[in-house]
Amino acid sequence: MSACSSSVLQNQLASGKVGVRHLYSRFYRTETGHTMTDESATAPSAGRSRNMAAIRRSETKPEREFRSALHRAGYRFRKDLRMPVEGGYARPDVVFTRRRIAVFIDGCFWHSCPAHGTEPGVNRGYWGPKLQRTRERDARDNEALLADGWVVVRIWTHVPLAQSLAVFEHIFENTSRPGDARAGAPERMWRVE
Ligand SMILES: [Zn+2]
Repeated sequence: MSACSSSVLQNQLASGKVGVRHLYSRFYRTETGHTMTDESATAPSAGRSRNMAAIRRSETKPEREFRSALHRAGYRFRKDLRMPVEGGYARPDVVFTRRRIAVFIDGCFWHSCPAHGTEPGVNRGYWGPKLQRTRERDARDNEALLADGWVVVRIWTHVPLAQSLAVFEHIFENTSRPGDARAGAPERMWRVE
């Protein structure tokens, strides 16, 4: 992007003429090889924050693919379960209530992946605090769920699906069901990179 078109985009963003989804789509595609959901691509361009909310709540392709793969492999789980934590709700993408496993599929951009989570070059003052809040909320959710006896699994969207699935199966097999008398405390926090 040239300096000229960059400043045009910045002005349009500031005036609300261009929704942030365009900016996000570009990053998303660049960083993970995926495009955003169809819903966000065709959604009317309303206010900036409304677009942000729409992007956040709609199911992304990596989430959908991971859930489908789990389902094909025979796993049954809850999706989008709202779990009360101090200060709000945690919303894991996949939840196994009996084994108490909560899985988050974390977008590289939103959740500041160490490999790809660079902040956009434009409108940094807007994105910086927003991404910071997401990081803080992730930490809060992890802490609350772990304290409540959950196993927390966070998978970056850059991890290939087959690898995510293989690692998840390992975690699942090593997380005892309630009542199992297995020796040793299971690992509680997993980050799949
Ligand atoms: Zn990444």
